[in-house]
Amino acid sequence: MAVTKQGDGSGGTAVDWHTLTADEVVTAQGTGAGGLGDDEAEARRARVGPNRLPAPKRRGPAQRLLAQFHDVLIYVLLAAAAVTALLGHWIDAHVILAVVVINAVIGFLQEGKAENALAAIRDMLAPKASVIRAGRRRAIPGEELVPGDVVVLEAGARVPADVRLIDVRRMRIDEAVLTGESVAVDKMTTAVGAATPLGDRAPMAFSGTLVTTGQGKGVVVATGADTAIGKISGMLSEVTTLQTPLTRQMAVFAKWLTGAILGLAVAVLAFGLMARDYGFTEMFLAVVGLTVAAIPEGLPAILTITLAIGVQGMARRHAIVRRLPAIETLGSVSVICSDKTGTLTRNEMAVVSVAVARRRLAVSGTGYAPHGMFHQEGREVDGADLPLVVQTARVALLCNDANLGQDAAGQWIVEGDPMEGALLALAAKAGLDQATEAGQYPRTDVIPFDSAHQFMATLQHSHTGNGFVFVKGAPERIIEMCATERGFDGDEPLDAAYWRARAEEIAADGQRVLAVAMKTTNAAHTVLAFDDIDHGLTLLGLFGLIDPPRGEAIAAVADCRSAGIQVKMITGDHGGTAVAIARQLGLANPTAMLTGRDIDALDDDELQRRTQETAVFARTSPAHKLRLVMALQAAGSVVAMTGDGVNDAPALKRADVGVAMGRGGSEAAKEAAEVVLADDNFATIAAAVRAGRTVYDNLKKAILFILPTNGGEALILIAAILLGTTLPITPVQILWVNMVTAVTLALALAFEPAEPDVMRRPPRAAGEAILSRFLVWRVVFVSVLFLAALSAMFALARGYGASVAEARTVVVNTLVVLEIVYLFSVRYLKSPSITWRGVLGTKAVVIAVGAVTALQVLFTYAPFMAAVFDTRPLSPAQGAGIVAAGVGVLVILEIEKWAQGRRAARRRAGG
Ligand code: ATP
Repeated sequence: MAVTKQGDGSGGTAVDWHTLTADEVVTAQGTGAGGLGDDEAEARRARVGPNRLPAPKRRGPAQRLLAQFHDVLIYVLLAAAAVTALLGHWIDAHVILAVVVINAVIGFLQEGKAENALAAIRDMLAPKASVIRAGRRRAIPGEELVPGDVVVLEAGARVPADVRLIDVRRMRIDEAVLTGESVAVDKMTTAVGAATPLGDRAPMAFSGTLVTTGQGKGVVVATGADTAIGKISGMLSEVTTLQTPLTRQMAVFAKWLTGAILGLAVAVLAFGLMARDYGFTEMFLAVVGLTVAAIPEGLPAILTITLAIGVQGMARRHAIVRRLPAIETLGSVSVICSDKTGTLTRNEMAVVSVAVARRRLAVSGTGYAPHGMFHQEGREVDGADLPLVVQTARVALLCNDANLGQDAAGQWIVEGDPMEGALLALAAKAGLDQATEAGQYPRTDVIPFDSAHQFMATLQHSHTGNGFVFVKGAPERIIEMCATERGFDGDEPLDAAYWRARAEEIAADGQRVLAVAMKTTNAAHTVLAFDDIDHGLTLLGLFGLIDPPRGEAIAAVADCRSAGIQVKMITGDHGGTAVAIARQLGLANPTAMLTGRDIDALDDDELQRRTQETAVFARTSPAHKLRLVMALQAAGSVVAMTGDGVNDAPALKRADVGVAMGRGGSEAAKEAAEVVLADDNFATIAAAVRAGRTVYDNLKKAILFILPTNGGEALILIAAILLGTTLPITPVQILWVNMVTAVTLALALAFEPAEPDVMRRPPRAAGEAILSRFLVWRVVFVSVLFLAALSAMFALARGYGASVAEARTVVVNTLVVLEIVYLFSVRYLKSPSITWRGVLGTKAVVIAVGAVTALQVLFTYAPFMAAVFDTRPLSPAQGAGIVAAGVGVLVILEIEKWAQGRRAARRRAGG
């Protein structure tokens, strides 16, 4: 045998684990019968370190700071600074450099913050591993695994370390990350030859690969950097950048805009030199001022910050964005397709009714506590007195993978599937003890539950040599498999119609229905096949389980409805149950229901039509989800779809926003999804949509603020040059304004909270362009408005005898005030800004306005500022005049907004 190290838990790399038998591996790793003990695991962890891959190299701070200067806009500014310096205009050169440096520093700090936000989110998504330690199965962070640990692998799980399999059941693993082979491979426990290539090592499960079907167990043989994937360096440096379609679109636009501005600058320079008699230096400085004013150098940083703040806000609300573009898409979602169990409902199950033979009993009790009574027609009956109830409960207890236990506070809790936990509580109420029963009927084989076949079956043997097949699952499926039913006097031919009616009846009360059946077999029967159970079973009874809707989901459904978003429930449950829950949740049209079978019978066109009006899809399998997403998308909807299982991955990938469950979801689903819900709660999806809309609004506000104000600043200079008049503001003053407003006012928009109506307006059209005609209009309108106001203020000041320098100081202050009022206007895209709430602003706005005001006071009154910028102190009357101009412009801006709103309303009304 090729073992070089014995039981040292170091997971030595020299061992070909695939060549050893399962027993040899267990011995070599020093793994005990119940896995490693806690102390041993701790000791090994101290020795081999955490099961983590070395983090991909992050760029150093210096590199990141330098990268801030790598931008066409910045190159242009640097060139302008250089030429200005060559011309001997040191002040101008310094101010331009200050603009560049301030920008770079802000970009640098914000990018760091954004990267940290993303890193924190990556940590939130760190996978868990299911491990057996000290005889108990538990979920631990994957990082804590050590060589020698026994891990349990189930469909949908990502293999957390390199594992030598010791037990497999129909297990297939997708090893594409390692081998590039996208077809999942079958796994076995038998050893293979030493020279077997990686992709054919059947008894090995490699870290990072994905279990697609089946389940199994194995011993960890290598962790962290020792794993096969850990050795392929560089492969995992997957970088997430803060980019979305919108920011990419803006980056392209910025390049294009820079070109246009440069062209314009050259034209203005030529015009000024030829048609007007400005000197070259004066003209050049004016053109540099114009260029700097027009270039939206702060825009990329602000968009990034807005996104980072959005991502962090969502993470706080338990929505983890895995792919950034999803933030934008979330804002335009028009249909949310949600799973029912655990997302819309609480997933706190309790069996409340039992149907056996010709009786229906009610069950009392609270939560998962194993105490409660059976009632028949109002009378209490002891479960143990009803042999059929006990038999049915026993099957439900044995065909079950959950455990009941008590937490520190004495509260009964389930480990495993809550529905199975509820069945255990019921069995206890019927007087059965799980440990005793499991000891009497050891399990030999299992077909795990899968939402595609909707049942679970186990093969158990008693010590007297009898074999039993126990099955539980959806009644429609189970009834099909049964030939007989159990009555008080033995087995009778099955009355399928009777049982179907009973199931309908329980479902109509909003209860989830489960059927239980069994069959006897012999001791020689040790492997359970689908053929064994698809006929000849005996039906024992039905259970009805309640799973109440989440209170917050009811509120969130109402929110979605007012936001013009349709909510559709897609569930594996019975149609009757689903409709009853849909009603309780307040879904629109709750009785419009299609089952998986109905969906199969419809062609694509018909399905597309029917999905529009249908709110509930019941008894669906994951394959139906994919068809539904495609049908909804074909009808023009932007679809968010939830999922948890490995089979949901295709639908999640296909949906515009795939939403996976963070707690109950498989790794496969999480990786296919754009958004992961840390709390599995439907209300979180609604919150994410709200956040998505807010982020998009804020991006739009930043663009709507920066482009027109830059346009306004540039236009004043252009107009003066074209007309050959005295410049109402000097180039270096324009640079000042640009510098102080870019870092204060525009930045404040990134922190804007949601507007009150975000969830009361319909979703944004999917293809809506942000660089729209409206934006062009705004740039022109605001630029002209600014030009008019500033020219008027300049003329007015000159009119009452102010010097040019004093008049220019008035103009600079007016320009800043105009930018402040425009900020207030932009904060509400469609609704009025002159409201109490609007005027009060937010903390960010107040800080920004306070900072700009302080800077302007300094600018106007400080002697050193006068030396640099040639300013003059202003009188209180002049100050009042400037504020009045601001108020006047705000009123005009509000009238424009109101007129735009009316136009939009008329357009909507007209078609
Ligand atoms: P949703 O899609 O709303 O989350 P669900 O995921 O609970 O619903 P499935 O898990 O696909 O739906 O379950 C469908 C049906 O399969 C259930 O109504 C139940 O009858 C049966 N079922 C669910 N879990 C089990 C299980 N562990 N064992 C046997 N049968 C089950």
